[in-house]
Amino acid sequence: MARRKKIYEGKAKILYEGPEPGTIVQYFKDDATAFNAQKKDVIEGKGVLNNRLSEFFMLGLNQIGVPTHFIRRLNMREQLVRSCEIIPLEVIVRNFAAGSLSKRLGIEEGTQLPRPIVEYCYKDDALGDPMVSEEHIAAFGWASQQDMDDVLSLALRVNDFMSGVMLAVGIKLVDFKIEIGRVYEGDFQRLVVADEISPDSCRLWDIETGRHLDKDVFRRDLGSLTDAYSEVARRLGVLPQAAPTKPTLIN
Ligand code: 5GP
Repeated sequence: MARRKKIYEGKAKILYEGPEPGTIVQYFKDDATAFNAQKKDVIEGKGVLNNRLSEFFMLGLNQIGVPTHFIRRLNMREQLVRSCEIIPLEVIVRNFAAGSLSKRLGIEEGTQLPRPIVEYCYKDDALGDPMVSEEHIAAFGWASQQDMDDVLSLALRVNDFMSGVMLAVGIKLVDFKIEIGRVYEGDFQRLVVADEISPDSCRLWDIETGRHLDKDVFRRDLGSLTDAYSEVARRLGVLPQAAPTKPTLIN
């Protein structure tokens, strides 16, 4: 079997050249990192769960007409996605105060925000992904005004979809991060939701108990990350009802 060409290896995923032009294979690793990779561990099964959960969310978005890079899942750890040019921004949407917003502005975690707040961070690990304004984005040419109008609209649609999906299974979507890519179709470019949507990139709190079901479990040493992600997957029907400690996946 021919060896695949690795395009990029990040903290949680590896990208390989896909089988057809314009495609990429996205491989989900078990590695967990936090605080700009100062805290690291390998969490058995995390990659499998995130592959399935990201598939679930991206498929749902595609079904309601929000374009994503997702084509299809290939196996337990890999999915085929459209190759795109990633806009170098982390797009964060917040419904409730938590994490860096709470620290920055002194707002108690869990406080409902008056409306969804969208923030942009410049994707640069060496700089620790600093928050930037639309002025920076325009001045440095990271995205055009038209792109940013579309990015905002996509971010808010993802927020509405994800909030509803999570609410239906008793989970509050506190905040999340997405990345947006450009795909070229002839003379036209289109923006799509790229990267992944998973408990690695969202804050998910159980509505009844406030239990954290996301990467804060790892960041803050709150217990088993696999248990938390399995619980999200189980509630969404991605895992069978009685989820064993090690994820057993249904098709
Ligand atoms: P905060 O700014 O409060 O640290 O993060 C806000 C939201 O964006 C959280 O849901 C967090 O998981 C997500 N987020 C922010 N930066 C990153 C990142 O570099 N990687 C991932 N996976 N998620 C991030």
